[in-house]
Amino acid sequence: FEPLISDFYNYESLLSEQEKEAIMALRNYLDSEVRPIVGGYWNRAEFPTEIVRPLAELGQFSYAWDETRPFENSAVFRGFLAFELARVDASVATFVGVQNGLSCGSISVCGSPEQRAEWLPRLASGEIIGSFGLTEPQSGSDSAQGLRTTARRDGDNWVLNGAKRWIGNATFADITVIWAKDVADNQVKGFIVPTSTPGYTASKIEGKVSLRAVQNADITLEDVVVPESLRLANANSFKDTASVLRLTRAEVAWAAVGVAAGAYEAAVAYSKERMQFGKPIGAHQLVQDMLAKSLGNITASLGMVVRVSEMLDRGEQRDEHSALAKAFTTARMRETVAWCRELFGGNGIVIDYDIARFFADAEALYSYEGTREMNTLIVGRSITGQAAFV
Ligand code: FAD
Repeated sequence: FEPLISDFYNYESLLSEQEKEAIMALRNYLDSEVRPIVGGYWNRAEFPTEIVRPLAELGQFSYAWDETRPFENSAVFRGFLAFELARVDASVATFVGVQNGLSCGSISVCGSPEQRAEWLPRLASGEIIGSFGLTEPQSGSDSAQGLRTTARRDGDNWVLNGAKRWIGNATFADITVIWAKDVADNQVKGFIVPTSTPGYTASKIEGKVSLRAVQNADITLEDVVVPESLRLANANSFKDTASVLRLTRAEVAWAAVGVAAGAYEAAVAYSKERMQFGKPIGAHQLVQDMLAKSLGNITASLGMVVRVSEMLDRGEQRDEHSALAKAFTTARMRETVAWCRELFGGNGIVIDYDIARFFADAEALYSYEGTREMNTLIVGRSITGQAAFV
């Protein structure tokens, strides 16, 4: 097992031997099969669907769930999986985050035992693709109260109407977990909606400058009928949605450290080969300063996410813990990718050098799964006892 240069304090040594083997298998696959192709897919704004089955075989959609996990494992291990994915490509990490954290996570946290048994193995094997529809054209940060999509009970069915925006994987997903307000009690509920249902349409959002390989969609729901058996049995209010987001925000915090690590590793390599003033740029003091500051950000952030995951395993993790990690590590990531890009000079703005992709992709991680401001307000409520959202 080889420690990474970006894992300066060797946090990965905390993992069990079995977990380290699984990390190495993922790392080898990403290095040989994914790293060489992702730049091209990013450029074309396409997603490499050929990686879905191999990622499933490597357990990327299985490890967290009782119904599918191949062996007992820790939340720190699962965090390192997100880190390893993101240090190669943030779009791939985001795809896994949507399939595993948001789609499987909603069903695991909010589904009945029957719903979990039916859907989790199919998602875990990659047989079907999932997406997660919470955000709307008019409701992003305020989705706890501002959702306009409605669900109306009609006998044994529910009728959904509304629109969703930014939904990852939704152009090719088989199911979308749709969050909608029940018109009877005004509470947010969740529904597993097969994307072939009449009245459901998804259209790709074009022109993104960040996470170009992730396929995000605008969804419209016009009198979409789903049976009561597809209503998530334990999703009774936005608090239940927030329970899913607590888990996925911690994963995004890990992915943000991975993006910073990927940028740093690229910058270290470049600083050793690029010559200016008769020596490698890495021999200049100011360049070493930026590398050391980047490594400090990554190392401090890794300590934070390791602890947040340990708290999950100990049953101690609360919303404000994962919110602080997400807000903090994405901010440190943004700073780090900017320093690393700077070290590439002009080459830092062309896609031929991977650093430009890390730099651009960091912006989406900074804003999705709750902006820095929203996660800060979750922490602020915990500090002061005062909710300052509205
Ligand atoms: P807004 O809510 O309009 O916020 C705009 C700005 O105002 C932000 O800076 C925000 O912090 C600030 N702001 C708002 N309210 C306050 C306040 N009270 N105090 C201080 N500042 C405030 N959503 C899904 O449901 N499923 C997905 O799969 C998904 N994938 C995504 C993928 C990408 C690439 C992106 C970009 C987004 C994705 N999202 C997804 C949506 C994402 O979660 C939202 O973009 C995010 O929550 C912010 O919402 P918004 O874009 O509507 O911004």
